[in-house]
Amino acid sequence: MGIYKAKVKEVLGKEFPDDARKQLWGGIAAVFKSWNGRRAVSYRRIEGIPDDWGTATNIQAMVFGNMGASSATGVAFSRNPATGENAFYGEWLVNAQGEDVVAGLRTPNPLNEATKSEQNKHLPSLETSMPRVYRELDGYRRRLERHYRDMQDIEFTIQEGRLWMLQCRVGKRTGTAALRMAMDMRAEKMISDKEAVLRLQPAQLDELLHPVVDPADEKQAQAAGRLIAKGLPAGPGGASGQVVFTAAAAVEWARQKKTVILVREETNPEDVEGMRAATGILTARGGMTSHAALVARGWGKCCIVGAGDIHVEPAAGRMTVRGKVYKEGDVLTLNGTRGYVYEGRLEMRDATENPLFKGFMKFVDKYRRLGVRTNADTPEDARLARSFGAEGIGLFRTEHMFYGKGSDRPLFLLRKMILAKNEAERRKALDELFPFVKAAIKGTLEAMEGYPVTIRLLDPPLHEFVPKSDEKRAELARELGVSVEDVRRRGEELHESNPMMGHRGVRLGISYPEISEMQFRAILEAAAELCAGGKKCLPEIMIPVTSHVNELTHQKAICRRVEAEVRAKYGLKRIAYLYGTMIEVPRAALTADEMAREAEFFSFGTNDLTQMTFGFSRDDIGGFMKGYLEKKILADDPFQTLDIRGIDKLVRIAVEGGRRTRPDLKIGICGEHGGDPESVELCHKAGLNYVSCSPFRVPIARLAAAQVAIEEKMGAAGPKGD
Ligand code: PEP
Ligand code: MG
Repeated sequence: MGIYKAKVKEVLGKEFPDDARKQLWGGIAAVFKSWNGRRAVSYRRIEGIPDDWGTATNIQAMVFGNMGASSATGVAFSRNPATGENAFYGEWLVNAQGEDVVAGLRTPNPLNEATKSEQNKHLPSLETSMPRVYRELDGYRRRLERHYRDMQDIEFTIQEGRLWMLQCRVGKRTGTAALRMAMDMRAEKMISDKEAVLRLQPAQLDELLHPVVDPADEKQAQAAGRLIAKGLPAGPGGASGQVVFTAAAAVEWARQKKTVILVREETNPEDVEGMRAATGILTARGGMTSHAALVARGWGKCCIVGAGDIHVEPAAGRMTVRGKVYKEGDVLTLNGTRGYVYEGRLEMRDATENPLFKGFMKFVDKYRRLGVRTNADTPEDARLARSFGAEGIGLFRTEHMFYGKGSDRPLFLLRKMILAKNEAERRKALDELFPFVKAAIKGTLEAMEGYPVTIRLLDPPLHEFVPKSDEKRAELARELGVSVEDVRRRGEELHESNPMMGHRGVRLGISYPEISEMQFRAILEAAAELCAGGKKCLPEIMIPVTSHVNELTHQKAICRRVEAEVRAKYGLKRIAYLYGTMIEVPRAALTADEMAREAEFFSFGTNDLTQMTFGFSRDDIGGFMKGYLEKKILADDPFQTLDIRGIDKLVRIAVEGGRRTRPDLKIGICGEHGGDPESVELCHKAGLNYVSCSPFRVPIARLAAAQVAIEEKMGAAGPKGD
């Protein structure tokens, strides 16, 4: 006590008050002040909690868990927060106060026999040490769960043999646990079907889609002696990365796009941002309810705590594990599901085969009105997205066939076309390019098995494809039989000071109609051949970066002419396809009623629409967006979450105008926002037909779409009943 009092005097510069009222006011003030503490501020920013909510203070009589061997304290969950298993789960310490458990300074004991793990099986459980108290606690656990109809996080203290309940709240859980609890509680008739759908945050699904350590590789690593430490499995999944020993290093390395594992002796509140930046978290001390474990679980991060063999020396930039030294930057792999730490990198495996996940998603789909498609540019991506439940492709970016695997030849031909001196030369190059474009489109149409595929015509400015280095320019000149000077000059001619608003999208097709013509032919022939072979397919041809209906009229005439030629060639009466446009320039949104005269569908390109509405270059926001968010000029980055006051208004104007002209106009979104839960909600409310997003975000969008539909129906009725 004397030491504490002296410390208070040293830190605060005044005596610890003896007056009870003064102590109480001091305590109350400390709680209110904590709202503006660094940890709380960081946490709010990460979780998107508004600063003006404020906090409340509860005043309770004090009980003491540190009054000897018959006193104890603990934290428990009414179900396992890491796995979701319906088993009373918790930790306790004899002769201790609550802070000793949550601060992770001592590794606590398990609550009962059934939930002991490899790592704590030798420690005494409350169930055997204080059986009467344990039974009483277990009774409260059931009662509280029945009352609140959700998993509870419970804090308790035992003062000289008597149990006191300190607090309970809805417990944080991993995505895996949230899924299992939702499905179990529904089966137990504790919650309704709709509530089960609402119990998972869409972002939590991300974790279920994340990799786990490949069991075969793990076995091999164990046989090779690479298992270096064991701890408590606080956050499931697998993570490999370079180790860092401070939160600041985790943030900095992650900024440099490195994958890091944050290793700490124990974590403290200042580590929040580093924990967020890390792929995995490993601590030497602490239990399943320690700060690190709680925070990691809330975020669905792979996390191992209480790996006692690890000794961390942040100042020296190293850690030692039973005599062996690991330096900052060395690679480790965590198996957060088992609590195992391995040296080096291990293979990861996809977790989507989880049957509970599949069952839940099927169930989710009953409620949504919005369709969910994917943005995919290859048959492989298309198949992956189909396995995640995509109901079509909302954006096939043609230009992606000129990047990456197998792109050498098509890219060469595209460059040849770009360097052509006249239309005849350009047409010749386009003829050579044609079979590659057709094959890529046909493969993707086929993989989608009759689901619609929105194929967008070439969008980027041509200069993006001209080689930049002298060496590459020389190589291209050699292959094309032209001079290096020719290549350089053409590159210069194509140079634009503002390429994002330059010669791109439909403007290319207006300047060089033969480029559009080749693409129309590739799409329609691919469809005709599949159709002739008895296969179903539905291409939707999409014109990018349009701003005026006349652009659509001009391109449509070419499209219809090519269609007639293809029909004649294949002897078909009809080819099923739609002709439509992206809405990504504000003028297109404002004149949607006119655009819909030509377009049979719209797809909002909200990346460009955001760029052109804000006037923010989407490639250069790094320079100022951080400041905008910190100074609260904007609540969210508008390139991630659809701007509700500006872009949403344009979307609504376009939906209303477009459907006025063409009531059955199909409308979707294919900008990055299509996979953001908040934006999905706006799309539902604006009356869109579908959202389209990257394959891994398809399940997230499906869940977000179901939740907004349920919430809309429930309205004032409340969550009970179906
Ligand atoms: C968009 O602008 O939102 C879009 C999907 O097109 P891109 O990102 O290819 O410009
Ligand atoms: Mg765009």
